[in-house]
Amino acid sequence: MSGVWALVALAGVLAPGDLVIRHVTVVSAERDAPRADTDVVIRGERIAWVGALAEPTDGTTVLDGTGRYLVPGLIDGHVHLAALPGLSGAQAAAMPETVAAYFEQMPRSYLYFGFTTVVDVNVVEPALLARVRAADLAPEVLDCGGGVMVANGYPMLNRPAPERFHRYPNYLDATEGHAPEDVVARIAQGGASCVKAFYEPGPPSAPFPLPSLATMQALRDAAHRRRLPLLLHANSLEAHRFAVALSADAVAHGLWNWSGFEGGARELPPEVRALLDEERRLGLGYMATLRVMSSVADLFTPGFLDDPRLAKVLPPAFLAFCRSPAGRWLADETNEEGLPSEQIRALYRDGRQAAFTYMAGRGARLLFGSDTPSDATYANPPGYNGFLELRAMEQAGATPRQILQAATLENARFFGIDTRAGSVEPGKLANLLLLREDPLASTGAFDSLETVVLRGRVAARERLAAR
Ligand SMILES: [Zn+2]
Repeated sequence: MSGVWALVALAGVLAPGDLVIRHVTVVSAERDAPRADTDVVIRGERIAWVGALAEPTDGTTVLDGTGRYLVPGLIDGHVHLAALPGLSGAQAAAMPETVAAYFEQMPRSYLYFGFTTVVDVNVVEPALLARVRAADLAPEVLDCGGGVMVANGYPMLNRPAPERFHRYPNYLDATEGHAPEDVVARIAQGGASCVKAFYEPGPPSAPFPLPSLATMQALRDAAHRRRLPLLLHANSLEAHRFAVALSADAVAHGLWNWSGFEGGARELPPEVRALLDEERRLGLGYMATLRVMSSVADLFTPGFLDDPRLAKVLPPAFLAFCRSPAGRWLADETNEEGLPSEQIRALYRDGRQAAFTYMAGRGARLLFGSDTPSDATYANPPGYNGFLELRAMEQAGATPRQILQAATLENARFFGIDTRAGSVEPGKLANLLLLREDPLASTGAFDSLETVVLRGRVAARERLAAR
């Protein structure tokens, strides 16, 4: 025992009412190796001490961590809390009770899979965020305010005017209050942790309006003056080129579209590799959101809805609807041509992750975001979809350590919360997960979650499940 430790032991680290997790293996991204047989002391909402206790634990609450792994709570950097997975607008309007039950359960569903922080990157319903923030058991909610786009560009062009101008008030144009500086000021006033902007060229046959580089540079500079990172929606070669020219802080979505791309192609063209190298060199955060594509494939995956984990995150009536013939509406819309399921699955799965594989293999700066839900699809359920994103990243070649780093410390740094989240260190919020399996062996370990500690409060996982 070192002299410093002896001093600490003499002074005593414990206080009555502390929560002590004993003899646990701490796995936290700031450390090169796990720390075995460790005691973690939690006082109130925070981690007070990490080490090997040499004093009696009388007067404290002890949680035995023998044979267990303790990791920081996960941070999903890309969710849409107000969007409903699985139901069309008309279906939702016809089933208000089912929808209400979904939103009541949703915060616990994120916790059920270990997400103690989520970032809503495009707030369209502030009242819903307020409700989640006020819920008894809910992840911490950060947000990027309302997303920023050129007037009448993506995604506001999906809505009829004038409704689109109310739903997406942070559009950019020459009218008063819509210069980059005004928009960022509004977002910052709302307490946001980031700015999310869109660069979506649309199909070559019918291109969408796009912001100029100068406008977006002004947006980025305004964001940086307020210490907010700029996350750019980009998924094509053209959009990723724009992200590099702009020097955005991160791309939301991997690079999965380039001209000449054929479903199933695994070889990246030289110009794609060159651009990815440039993103890596710039230290651009790469948030791949692999589930956007693989969840389309999952609409055609036999048995997807029979996985018992879906029943943990979706209320029974909601899940029953998804399993009914009417629940197949999005699959039918996606496959109007009636292609064989295998063909569609190949189109949305194979090759779409090749750029991520390339980036992960070369040590790029990976961020974690599941884009839940990316569409009105039951294949993007809250919490479980984040787990599937962890799995997809591993399957695409990232190591469990890279994935843990992305979903904890790297995301915490990106969103500016690393003084209170992202690692198991004294002073940080006690948002912690106790796992039965080793998360550095496989991301599947996150499904062996037993206990969630949320700001110092202990919740057994089963208590978070849908009823
Ligand atoms: Zn999204």
